[in-house]
Amino acid sequence: MASLKEFESKVQGTIKEYGLVDKGDKILVACSGGKDSTTALYLLKKFGYNVEAFIIDLIIGNWSKANLENVKKFCKEQGIKLHVISMREEFGCSICYIRSNIQSKRNFTNCMICGVIKRWVMNQKARELGATKVATGHNLDDEVETLMMNIMKGNPGLSITLGPKTGVIRDKKFIPRIKPLYFCTNDEIREYSKGMGFPVLYKPCPCATGAFRIEVRKLVSEMERQDKDVKMNLVKNFMVMLPILRKAYSPKGSLKYCSVCGEPSRNDVCKRCDLMKVLKE
Ligand code: SF4
Ligand code: ZN
Repeated sequence: MASLKEFESKVQGTIKEYGLVDKGDKILVACSGGKDSTTALYLLKKFGYNVEAFIIDLIIGNWSKANLENVKKFCKEQGIKLHVISMREEFGCSICYIRSNIQSKRNFTNCMICGVIKRWVMNQKARELGATKVATGHNLDDEVETLMMNIMKGNPGLSITLGPKTGVIRDKKFIPRIKPLYFCTNDEIREYSKGMGFPVLYKPCPCATGAFRIEVRKLVSEMERQDKDVKMNLVKNFMVMLPILRKAYSPKGSLKYCSVCGEPSRNDVCKRCDLMKVLKE
């Protein structure tokens, strides 16, 4: 395992090599209270970038309460401005209510619904707060799993939005996203976060679902036992192919704005507003 210093150099190297941060950027870090986003927040601040944090209170029982408290405590200690967005204020209810209501009508997974809503809120709030980048805690394991899932499900075009920074959508209303922990494994981040004594929960979200992702995770771990570099090899090869994939699969024509909420969208109505329509049915 790398030392704390080596881990930090690796993250700094990713930021520099892939040009994740430009001069004058204001970075809003999307925090969940977990080890990944807390580590990304800490390091971006430590490297001297202009960062603020934000967390969406999803209202998933005690899990959300503990995460919110941890993020508040951490930001106070670090002197980082924190923005708390409450599902109750934004949507009038918890994510659990939205999810179970939609799932009584459509066969969508918890994380699909939650992910669409979080990305919508994240982009809108980041723009309102004058951020020029949104940073997330996505790591190497997340990326490999998503990449493998897209390939196995026959959807390689979905992978064009992967990579250390978004590069497909260029629009004044879309805030680019960056992943400073792109080349760091779950294990490395856990070790760093524990070594630094960050106040985070190491328990997964109680609503995390996705049987296919779990199977892919097992498969990757099995392959890793035979070759410890398998994850890094997969992602590095993917990075070589990414420009080709983007050329082949990027949607033609310019981005639209959702006719309901006005946010950037591929279709006339964005995914979040589609879900809200189902909710009201
Ligand atoms: Fe939402 Fe799934 Fe993340 Fe839980 S694990 S916060 S349900 S996206
Ligand atoms: Zn919309």
